[in-house]
Amino acid sequence: MALSFEVAAASQSGGRRGALHLPHGTVQTPVFMPVGTAATVKAVPQDTLEQIGADGAGAEMILANTYHLYLRPGHELIRRMGGLHRFMSWSRPMLTDSGGFQVFSLAKLRKITTDGVEFRSHLDGSSHFFSPEHSMEVQIALGADVMMAFDECVETPATWQRTRDSMSLTHAWAARSKQYFEAHKHEVPWAQPVPHPSQLYRDGWDADNFAGRTQCLFGIVQGGMYPDLRRESAERLVEMDFDGYAIGGLAVGEPPEVTREMIARTLEFLPKDKPRYVMGVGYPDQIAEYARMGVDMMDCVLPTRAARHGLLFRAVEPGELQPVKDAIGEEESPGESWTGESSATPSTIRMNIKRVEYAEDQRPIDPACACPVCQRYTRAYLRHLFMSREPLGATLNSIHNLAFYLDTMERVRKELAGL
Ligand SMILES: [Zn+2]
Repeated sequence: MALSFEVAAASQSGGRRGALHLPHGTVQTPVFMPVGTAATVKAVPQDTLEQIGADGAGAEMILANTYHLYLRPGHELIRRMGGLHRFMSWSRPMLTDSGGFQVFSLAKLRKITTDGVEFRSHLDGSSHFFSPEHSMEVQIALGADVMMAFDECVETPATWQRTRDSMSLTHAWAARSKQYFEAHKHEVPWAQPVPHPSQLYRDGWDADNFAGRTQCLFGIVQGGMYPDLRRESAERLVEMDFDGYAIGGLAVGEPPEVTREMIARTLEFLPKDKPRYVMGVGYPDQIAEYARMGVDMMDCVLPTRAARHGLLFRAVEPGELQPVKDAIGEEESPGESWTGESSATPSTIRMNIKRVEYAEDQRPIDPACACPVCQRYTRAYLRHLFMSREPLGATLNSIHNLAFYLDTMERVRKELAGL
């Protein structure tokens, strides 16, 4: 068995409270997955990740990037280390992306044919080729619980015809991904003996637990900003019968209301008994909104990337006016691509910890937050760490922001369960 998915409760707006059973454990959905690009959620140790959040449950599932790990340290090295879980000492579920998004956004000199993509590494300029088959081979070597079909990400904006051509290529690649996966899924490294058992394995996690279990494969719906193409893409992928479905190609610079519409127009054509995953979103208010619409899984670099830029999320306090737009000036933006911020009345404020007003502020980041950072440290100290470029600043800021995201999802799960 690779995956089973139970929906325990569903709301009128389509939101679902469920549980996703994977080889490395059960994940309560809707779930937010922190991004561990290079087999690390930047600046946060694994034991901390296992505990953050008001309920102490920690991150139940994380994501790693195939493109980055393929280039460094290399998927064959990770296979020899027993797969990604053992390599990074993470015993809970994981997901790897297909590598497609990074090939199209980071790599240089791409040459796309129906066979695959030739590109140069953004690290050293070396030449590489990714095909659907190769993406599957790399993701099987990494051994995440959930892997993604190889897709092309169309540029934004793109014409209807260009988007349709790209979508058709994604469909052909999805079929080839599935074919390769079905023929090779037994090659996952879980069943191999562990040469140097870590604490993780001494505690009883061994190859016997994974006998007969395999990874699962999700298809990715494309179709750009065109509802008719989104529908066609969803229907074609559902015919191919994947374990779950992702909605890709969003949060690439379009207005937030378009993101929301594309999600809504895609969800209606996806099966209700399979997990549904929106890739690369969003702000706390947005992930809550998408979860209420019926999205079961989301991931985003935003909480950790923002943290490293000194941007901290906190709840709006009772009676507090909404000062976000005024407080965050142009010079304080993080200088990287951000998804559009929701125009709906936010319940979240993004604080810039470097502001002078926090220099002697004795309060925690968020008085309502139960995270270990808010229990122990003041805004004044966090500002000092940030201004001094102390590495601990990135760690503490990341822990708080991740706790804030996990708590946001926990609140939505309770709401969807009718609690
Ligand atoms: Zn906190």
